[in-house]
Amino acid sequence: MDPADEGGDPACWMHRVCPECGRLADEDPPTRCPGCGVVLEAE
Ligand SMILES: [Zn+2]
Repeated sequence: MDPADEGGDPACWMHRVCPECGRLADEDPPTRCPGCGVVLEAE
């Protein structure tokens, strides 16, 4: 059993992960990475 598996879809936050530094953004794209400031584009 994986606790992270109940109710949470990994795909819902994968698009928030910064491609440059791997940090998770605080909000859905379009936004800026809080770590390195790169722009995360909405798909
Ligand atoms: Zn970043």
